[in-house]
Amino acid sequence: MTDVLSEHFKEQAAEALGNATIQESLDRLVNFRQGRVDAIAEYGQERWDALSQSAREIKRETLEHLDYYLDELSRNVERAGGHVFFARDAAEANEYVAKVAADNGVKTVIKSKSMVSEEMGIADVLEAMGIEPVETDLGEYIIQLAREAPYHIIAPALHKSKEEVSELFERILGTPAESDITALAGVARKVLREKFLEADMGMTGANFGVAETGTIVMVTNEGNGRMCSSLPRVHVATMGMERVIPRLRDVATYLPLLTRSATGQRISSYVSFVTGPRRSGEEDGPQEFHLVILDNGRSRMLADPELREALYCIRCGACLNACPVYGKVGGHAYGWVYPGPIGAVVTPSLVGVPKAKDLPFASTLCGACRDVCPLKIDIPRMLLKLRSDAVEGPPETRVPRSVESLMMRAWRKTVAGPRLFTLAGKVTSAAQWPLSRQGVLRWLPPPLSGWTRTRDFPRAAMRPFRARWRKDGGSRGG
Ligand code: SF4
Repeated sequence: MTDVLSEHFKEQAAEALGNATIQESLDRLVNFRQGRVDAIAEYGQERWDALSQSAREIKRETLEHLDYYLDELSRNVERAGGHVFFARDAAEANEYVAKVAADNGVKTVIKSKSMVSEEMGIADVLEAMGIEPVETDLGEYIIQLAREAPYHIIAPALHKSKEEVSELFERILGTPAESDITALAGVARKVLREKFLEADMGMTGANFGVAETGTIVMVTNEGNGRMCSSLPRVHVATMGMERVIPRLRDVATYLPLLTRSATGQRISSYVSFVTGPRRSGEEDGPQEFHLVILDNGRSRMLADPELREALYCIRCGACLNACPVYGKVGGHAYGWVYPGPIGAVVTPSLVGVPKAKDLPFASTLCGACRDVCPLKIDIPRMLLKLRSDAVEGPPETRVPRSVESLMMRAWRKTVAGPRLFTLAGKVTSAAQWPLSRQGVLRWLPPPLSGWTRTRDFPRAAMRPFRARWRKDGGSRGG
């Protein structure tokens, strides 16, 4: 599984906040936001809400009978001539893919963007076997060359400027410096064309797995998904187990929600439907088709009535674009494959709260993520649940008590009775004197210093409210 660096969220966020290039890149999120707003306006809010509601209903029904639909999907893939492997975790999934590659004497694997294969960390496994894995989505290719993790669910190289990409291509591919984006894409296209032709195996994700027909559906804008699934001899698709949908007609519900929420497009440039390997008489397509269905902690989420809703996610990325925290700290701060508000729910759920204890707290709980989500997933509610688990949940999910939680306990005791509360007010008024300037505190000593590192703290009132109430408002009987 890809390394989890979420424990370092605070340091990574601080680094991003101080990085001017990253802050400039994050300003581009405004284009996604506007695209989504325009696309929904064009579709009609009422129709959109009705579509969202149907999509929620389908997900609810599917997850309630997930075993049934996964079984149906598996039977239909096999009926079409494909192989299905249910992987309990990333290690099992990697082992299976590695065996398929070894059995077929694979030297080069071309990959289309897939968050599940990122989650598995399959590229490292293939490399260790001496097999060359090549990302073929332009954004993914750029970050593969830079040996970085994706930055955004739908725009993996959002944080890279064209100058940085040019420098990267110059350094690694030996191409001349180039400042034109189309020309840079041309450089990548030229290199990738060769890889498409020489690869023996293609790996793709699956936006949806249709139980009724055993079809996987891939939504892409560059056409690379269709090349990865049709050119090489072997095609391996990976999907999270929640990606199954019951019927082919359900694609018509999810597709407009996905593309309009993600980029504001009515439909993406390519929507590919793959059902099994090439059949006799067909001109193209792989000779072998494998579908790897990954659990990796999803069963745990499914069993938790408060977190199950996170499995409704269709990975459109709209919640990232709307989130004020993601908009300042960017994708790498989250330290794993899934960034932003949905990542703050999915990561602790999949890798364990102790490894990602800060993520549920990386939110203002403003609700913007829930408002833009096409599935109306209640992310803030789940973040609160994870916060509560982190502080007072079962011992296996609880994180060690921090100074902050001890202070919260002290605060609870203080406000529980008038005497202690009045005394605390007096002590605070006296203690803040040396630190206060023009009605604010610019600096607080540790362990409170985090509050004032990037903002001022309002000074406590010199005359407490209760004293004023007694003297003024209270005496008028109001
Ligand atoms: S949680 Fe909702 S908005 Fe965020 S990626 Fe998933 S479907 Fe899109």
